[in-house]
Amino acid sequence: MFEGVKDIKVFKGIGELVTLSSAAARQGRRAAAKDLESIRDAVVVEKKGKIVWLGPRTDLPTKYRSSASVNLKGAVVIPGLIECHTHLIYAGNRSGEFERRNQGESYQSIAKSGGGILSTVQATRDASEGELTKIGQRRIDRFAKQGVTTVEVKSGYGLTLKDEIKMLKAAKALRNARIVPTYLGAHAVPKEFANADAYVDSLIETLPKVRRYARRVDAFVENGYFSASTTKRYLAAARLNGMTASIHADQLTLSGGSQLAIEMGATSADHLVQAGLQEIAALAKSDVACVLLPSSDLYMDIAYPKAREMIDAGAIVALSTDFNPGTAPSQDVALVGILARVQMKMTFPETLVAYTVGAAHALGLEKEIGSIEIGKSCDFAVLSGGLDELFLDVGHMPIARTFCQGLETT
Ligand SMILES: [Zn+2]
Repeated sequence: MFEGVKDIKVFKGIGELVTLSSAAARQGRRAAAKDLESIRDAVVVEKKGKIVWLGPRTDLPTKYRSSASVNLKGAVVIPGLIECHTHLIYAGNRSGEFERRNQGESYQSIAKSGGGILSTVQATRDASEGELTKIGQRRIDRFAKQGVTTVEVKSGYGLTLKDEIKMLKAAKALRNARIVPTYLGAHAVPKEFANADAYVDSLIETLPKVRRYARRVDAFVENGYFSASTTKRYLAAARLNGMTASIHADQLTLSGGSQLAIEMGATSADHLVQAGLQEIAALAKSDVACVLLPSSDLYMDIAYPKAREMIDAGAIVALSTDFNPGTAPSQDVALVGILARVQMKMTFPETLVAYTVGAAHALGLEKEIGSIEIGKSCDFAVLSGGLDELFLDVGHMPIARTFCQGLETT
């Protein structure tokens, strides 16, 4: 008996294995058709959740031939998709606000009258940790069915230490995907505080306690929320606590968010609707991933970010739903890809690479996930049709089965 042979699982019968390894070698920059080249009649060998071998069936080493196996019956296999920006845990809903916005009221005016983020804060404060986990699990399962194996989950609807930790604990209890919790205490200034600076002072004090539950922070850098200078102070404190950062940047106004992301070494700058050519050139030169969230642009009825310019300049680009109750109440992964293709003129390879390799970079997890390679986590989606059926049909991803760390989640 070979050492550990019982822990080994062999995935065979893979008609086409799309590894995206060549795109991963370039951090996902300038993805092209050749990045979709696949291995035909392939096998993937998994041990303890990681890939230990992959290649054509005819090259499979003898030592793996008697291991337990799963037959994927000729299907196309792609890396597990990565949702690198979600506000998945929240209670209540904001359907009334959706109607008001469509009838001409502004986001800022709705927020002033008690709607917006702070209304979700109230509902989430009123919910128990168990309730939040239950709601969150249903949402994770919806993502898993669409081929998603990693989901970033932000806090930010508690805005007190107790309620933020409640959200992060609820996130930790979620199953059926790799969960990446992010502390978004700097989402909005709660009504208990006079201004953003006073609130950020209190947030900085919470970081040593929060880092047990989340190793990254996020901040909403926007007019009327958190300024770049206030956020800089906060991110410096986060770094001292060993936490990485991403930033909600340049969404509604050009407020210095993308420059701050570069300066502070954030893993991503997210939204970037207002980012101009100057910001794009700087982002392209950096390792900061540009996370584009076109569903929220659709719901907000605003312009889409300049994805073409970003990609052509050589930036790392990622896509995600931004799933949240206010500005993107949709978990539709296909819709995100379709908006990327139709509205932002991203090519199919660019779209797929953004949802995998690019999103892995956005989370700082590019060594573990994003492509199918030896040493990486055994995360993949088994398609029910051809590769060309991805990001084509709103509401439908052609996914038959999803595996995270070698375990089926669907
Ligand atoms: Zn967001």
